[in-house]
Order: sequence, then structure tokens, then C-alpha cells
Amino acid sequence: MSLYDLIVRGGMVVTPAGPERADIGVADGRIEAIGPDLEGAANVEIDAGGLHVFPGVIDPHVHCNEPGRADWEGFVTATSALAAGGATAFFDMPLNAHPPTVDAAAFDAKLARARDASLIDFALWGGIVPGNLDRLDELAARGVIGFKAFMSNSGIADFAAADDLTLYEGMVRAGQLGRVVAVHAENDAITGLLARRAVAEGRLTPRDYLASRPVVAELEAIQRAITLAGLAGCALHIVHVSTGQGVALVAAAWADGADVSCETCPHYLVLTDQDVVRLGAVAKCAPPLRPSAQREALWQHIEQGHIAMVASDHSPSPAALKEGADFFGVWGGVSGCQSTMQLLLTEGHYKRRLALRDITRVLSEGAARRFALWPAKGSLTRGADADLALVDLEPLAVLRQDDLFYRHRHSPYIGRGLRGRVVATLVRGTTVYQNGRVVSPPVGCLLRPGYAPSVTPPPPLPGQDPGASTGKLT
Ligand code: ZN
Repeated sequence: MSLYDLIVRGGMVVTPAGPERADIGVADGRIEAIGPDLEGAANVEIDAGGLHVFPGVIDPHVHCNEPGRADWEGFVTATSALAAGGATAFFDMPLNAHPPTVDAAAFDAKLARARDASLIDFALWGGIVPGNLDRLDELAARGVIGFKAFMSNSGIADFAAADDLTLYEGMVRAGQLGRVVAVHAENDAITGLLARRAVAEGRLTPRDYLASRPVVAELEAIQRAITLAGLAGCALHIVHVSTGQGVALVAAAWADGADVSCETCPHYLVLTDQDVVRLGAVAKCAPPLRPSAQREALWQHIEQGHIAMVASDHSPSPAALKEGADFFGVWGGVSGCQSTMQLLLTEGHYKRRLALRDITRVLSEGAARRFALWPAKGSLTRGADADLALVDLEPLAVLRQDDLFYRHRHSPYIGRGLRGRVVATLVRGTTVYQNGRVVSPPVGCLLRPGYAPSVTPPPPLPGQDPGASTGKLT
């Protein structure tokens, strides 16, 4: 009789203490045992000799665009790309689907599609927009991982920016519901006026776009969000921070007792404003890419533990929407979710000596902890889900367009030499990706805050209905 369904043998397992050689025994999709030279048999054994075993990447910021904009991206293609990059879970943003995820019916429609098509586990963000505050309760009851609001134009007509009162009142309710509010923090008055001024004067180049979204717009909005969330009694998360000063504001508020966290993205860690000029629309995003001093400041903040997580903000579109002489008019969003781990290995571990445990902290543990999925997700411990990325650290390969699983295979990282090859990705013990291929039907399940199928659940968040987060796989 087998003790385990699966044993992953002989890999260097990346734990908070650092990499150590260990076997991982898996039963019923969970880690049953972890240690050197596990005894006992298994139905399946995977030889991980020469490989590093990371907890699967959890990407808290992805735009899948389904339902409603499947011609932009989709759950099948995006989650194949995520799995190819070692991800085992992701959170889908509420705005690019149509209808946007701002009420229960829209949540249900997205959940149905995600259950059918997601190769990896998923959580769904709900939206805070003007007019939907009476829908936050039903979204929380459905299991949204948190609420996302825009402090500036989202670029999507049916997902309006939250004015300050909407944001504050939404934060009050989200705090009562025990949900984190995530904000896109840029001052809309500053960015909007600068953009209109540039367009009116016919200044439409990438450099003009960069100048229309200055650092001050990000810093002012971050500070305002911290003030509003503090007064509202709400946990706050700042998405895609692009500046060292922005992270410093969050770190200072945290040190002061504020319940606030932030993420940055691989593009801010790897690319600069020069790359926008060089590459064009494929590197357009908001906030925009910054000078190299900001990039280096972000790496330092990662090392200092001030950045809870690195998220791809994978935000694709058809190539046609990336064309045109008016840089303000082309779609802003970077396609990158397949490359996050490789970029952190290449530019972080190899180039800047970032420890592997710091990489797992920002790629797996940070999001799991912040959004109440830890330790069932984001950790390689007994009882946790067997979400694993098996990675050969050494190989250097140039990323080719053909390697990408995205619906539209464009990315600013094509042509870059990337270290680390994801050999296999396992979701709850099921190998979903192996050696360049998707090898499983969709197995993704909805993750709600408090998800804990086997390990001791974290205490409910303040105001959270414990019954709404039983951790059942649904
Ligand atoms: Zn985004």
C-alpha cells in the first residue's frame, strides 16, 4: 500500500530558512511529509535531482479579460502562461471583464468561466466603483479576495474611477467585511490635466506620455489612500508601486501602525523609461516606467522587506490596440505573467544577489499572507497544498515569441536572456505544466480569504463572517 500519491525526490526545497535538500511526500493534494530521504512508496515519483523546488508563484494581479473580452486574453491562455512561469494561483482583476465584477451576477458569470477554464487556482477581485457600494456585501459573501478601486481613469469605460467619497465609503464597508481594498494610486487631476494639455498641444510621443504621469501623482495618491483607509478602518494594498518614494510612504505608514501593504511589478524592476522609448507601446503602462534610479530603489526595498509581493499586472490586448502614432491613445498594459519568476531570478538572484528565500517571499508567501491564504498556500510545510514549481536555475535562454502562451504573443521581454527554466508546475499535487507543455485539463478552484483545507486556519479577519470562508474547495 502506498503512503503517498506522489513523492518529489531530491530537489533543493526553497523554504524561509533557505534552500535545503528534501523530499516532498504528497497525499490528497497536500504536503504530507517533507524531509530528507522520505521512506515509503508512492504511486508516482518525480526525480527533482538538480532542480530547485519553489512554492508555486501566487500572482495577485492579472487581467484575464473574460468573460466579455476573450479576444484580448482568456483564462485558458493566461493560466497556461502563468503555469509555464511556475504559478499555481492568481487573482483576477475586476475591470477588464464585461460585465466588470461589481456585483454578484458578474462574479457568478466570471466564476463559471474560470472554473471551466483555469488551469491553476484563482481568486477574484471585486470592484469599487461609483454606485455599487450596496453590492459589496454580496461580493464579499461570494468570496472576493478583496476590492479594487481606481483613483485615476481605468481605461475601461464601464469601470469608473472611484471619487474620494466613494473610495472612503467603500473602504468603511470593506473594513467591516474584513476585506482588503487595493487601489491604483495616481492622482487623476494631475495625470488627466497633463494628458489633456499634451494632447491639445499635439505632443503625443512616448516621452510626452511619460511626462504626463509624474512621480508626484503617485505619491500624492498613495498618501491620500493611506489617510482614507486609516480613517475608514480598512486594510489597504497599493498595487503596482513604481517608485522608491512610494514604497517608502507605505513602509513608513506601516511602521506607524497603518494596515497597508504594497506590490511592485517585474517591469518596474527590470525596465526603465528608456525602454518605453526603445520598445514603444509594448512597454506602456500606468504608472509608467521610471528612470533607473527608481528601479534600483525598488530592488533595495525588496531586500529590506518593504515590498510584500511582486505581481505581474499582466494586462494584454490585441496587437492592433498597441498601434498608432498617438502614444496616449494606445492601450497601456504589459504582457508578462509568464516571465515573472525568471525575471526575478535573472535580475534579482543572479544580477543583484537577491536570496532565493526573498524571491519566494515576494512571489508566493507575501500575497498568501496578506490575503489570508497562508499557510495553506504560499508555503512548503506539512499540511499545505502541494503547489510546486520545479525549476532548473542555471540555464540561460533567450525568450522567443513562440515560447509565450498568451493569446497575443507580445511582451517587452522577448529577446531577453532569462535564467531559470520552469521544468514542471504542480497544483495541489497535479502536474499541470511540464517541459514546455500544458499536461492537464483545467484544475483551478476558487480561493476565498481564509482558505485552509487542512492546516490550522488563520483567525477570521475583523468583521469577517467565518461561515463565508470555510476553506472548502468550490
Ligand atoms: Zn492592473
